[in-house]
Amino acid sequence: MSKIIASSAIRGAHKILDYAREKYRISLEKFGPEYEIGFPNTAYYLPIIYAITGIDVSKIKDIEKVLEICSRLIPPPVSEKTHLPYLAPALDAGMATLFAEEIIEAIRYLEEPDFYLADKEDVELDKGKIWLGAANDVIFRKRGVEFVDGTAPGFAAVIGAAPDTETAAKIALELQERNLYVFMCAHSKNSTFTEQLIEAGTQIGWPTRLVPFGPHISACVFAIGFACKVAMAFGGIKPGEFRKNLIYNKDRTYAFILALGEVTDEWFANAAGAINWGFPTISDTSIPQILPTGICTYEHVVSSIPHNQIVQKAIEVRGLKVTVSKVPIPVAYGPAFEGERVRGEDIYLEMGGGRTIAVEWTTSKGMEEVEDGRVDVIGKDVTDVEPGSRLHFAMVAEVAGRRFQEDFEPILERQNHHLINQAQGIMHIGQRDIAWIRISKQAVEKGFKLKHIGRIIHAKYHQEFGAIFDKVQIKIYTDEEKVKEILKLARASYAQRDARIEGMTDESVDTFYSCILCQSFAPSHVCIISPERTGLCGAYNWLDCKAAYEINPEGPNQPVKKGECIDEKLGQFKGCNDYVYKASRQKIERVSLYSLMVDPMTTCGCCECIAAILPMCNGIMTVDRDFTDMTPCGMKFTTLAGAVGGGAQTPGFLGHSKYNITQRKFLKGDGGFLRLVWMPKRLKEELREKIKKRAQELGVPNFIDMIADETVAKTEEEVLEYISQKGHPCLNLEPLL
Ligand code: SF4
Ligand code: ZN
Repeated sequence: MSKIIASSAIRGAHKILDYAREKYRISLEKFGPEYEIGFPNTAYYLPIIYAITGIDVSKIKDIEKVLEICSRLIPPPVSEKTHLPYLAPALDAGMATLFAEEIIEAIRYLEEPDFYLADKEDVELDKGKIWLGAANDVIFRKRGVEFVDGTAPGFAAVIGAAPDTETAAKIALELQERNLYVFMCAHSKNSTFTEQLIEAGTQIGWPTRLVPFGPHISACVFAIGFACKVAMAFGGIKPGEFRKNLIYNKDRTYAFILALGEVTDEWFANAAGAINWGFPTISDTSIPQILPTGICTYEHVVSSIPHNQIVQKAIEVRGLKVTVSKVPIPVAYGPAFEGERVRGEDIYLEMGGGRTIAVEWTTSKGMEEVEDGRVDVIGKDVTDVEPGSRLHFAMVAEVAGRRFQEDFEPILERQNHHLINQAQGIMHIGQRDIAWIRISKQAVEKGFKLKHIGRIIHAKYHQEFGAIFDKVQIKIYTDEEKVKEILKLARASYAQRDARIEGMTDESVDTFYSCILCQSFAPSHVCIISPERTGLCGAYNWLDCKAAYEINPEGPNQPVKKGECIDEKLGQFKGCNDYVYKASRQKIERVSLYSLMVDPMTTCGCCECIAAILPMCNGIMTVDRDFTDMTPCGMKFTTLAGAVGGGAQTPGFLGHSKYNITQRKFLKGDGGFLRLVWMPKRLKEELREKIKKRAQELGVPNFIDMIADETVAKTEEEVLEYISQKGHPCLNLEPLL
């Protein structure tokens, strides 16, 4: 802790303690030792003192004991020559401060019985009564339970006043939007945050969660005392179990102090007190910061934060998780709409699906670079185009979080599919650079615009993955140039993700992972993902599944023990068979990881490629989603996808990812990579380097030139002619059929 803060806090604590002693002396004289004292209608006495020391102050004479403890706690003022450590003495001084302030406030109740509106939830503006003071137990039970059941994550204790009423109202609203209680106390420059809100026309009181405790800094104890009571009433922590009380609040009550205005010694003393519970202080003025983390989840004191960032900063510093309870879009939202299609006449706007570019990319950024909830749409929106139009589409979700890892990017990104799909009237297929979105006329009529896709992503990422990140902002582009720019960046990132799995083998692990994300469309579809067989959508490799399982152990990616190896060549394992049988609801009994002929894996509609046998050639062709012409097997991609993509096992056909083509186990059971006789030219070019490398390994360095494409062969006969000319190795492999 900085020496300046420590010495200010200790100095402030001495001033407050001296004042409390003076008050005690006077009230003892005036009322006598047996006179009753305390906060109104509570069984928790002076709750901080009760929670920490177990002392139940109910008579004036009880104060004596507490003051003695304060005297023991408070360190001597810091002299020029004192050196480290400062933190522990400052924390003790802070604790003594809070005890002393409870005494001061309790005596205020004696001396000025009308100062606070006791037992009231609302202020009485007409009577000029705006200070509510300590919450009685009725109010406490009603409100405190919200801290436990998650309705309110915690509170912001606002000390002082904003520079103007407008700023005050804005800060209050931002805090309310995060479901936080706002506990207000103290004043700055003769103004209070409470009075500023009243002036701005904001409704204050317990019902709006904007609670005006009192105009003095000592009213801060009503906030901390509330937290102490929550731990005792709802956390089962006994009076006097101070350590447990502090830890309970540190871990469960998201509270912090927002100090607005010049920070006095007394404020420092209170801030130091709050640190004991793990509640940090964020201030708008320049005071020395205490950045190393320790007691608080993150930093202890952060200063000089501009008003338009102060709430966001506080939330970050305290590690508060944002919860977005409702998806704010003009159409209905929920799993019920996930399987719904948007067809023909109903289409207002279509993006991707092979006709235009559609790319989705989730990437991580620094905490400072992301403004949570921000959605930008750059380029044309639905309102700028006619019904039945097409646009290019690129969506970048920029995620930041102190615990966020690059490994989590693909996991969040892959969710886009099912998250966007749950909006009524919006259809989403695919992922990465093969996304495909249709927005229906009905949705547009209800006011659905592109920004709402961003709103869905923001809300749902928070709801489902709040544990692993803190902020997300979304940028949506529809302008061709910009979309192409993003496409390039995204592809580089996909390549990097794919490369992480390179070098791992199926033999090197004893556990594979499942993915059943696509069961909403293809109910019996189960992907088994091994290091050498990525998911057929191309978005999930073994490492991704492993990370996804870590994040969400109940989620769609489950570990599958390989178990006994039934057939090494086909890649059949007892553990996988057992799992698939269960997960397909008894539809699929056996599955080969490396074969399209014997018990192939099921295929769903979002596969990147579909492989099919060409019997005459004794070989296999594959076609990717972007190739829309006829293929040598007599079917276009869409027909193939329609025929085999429903989650059934279809021997002779297999959905797979682009990346899988050059993985070593690709179709190993059917003769492997060297069976490949035809693929679209563009795909061949895209994979050129990888194909060359793999062919080299297999001792056929010029293999890429032996694979036919649409420029040399459109029918199976033409493929056969071409590969015969080239002396393709598959002609010498054992017969496929
Ligand atoms: Fe998961 Fe397979 Fe669907 Fe990809 S295709 S999301 S891996 S179930
Ligand atoms: Zn799928």
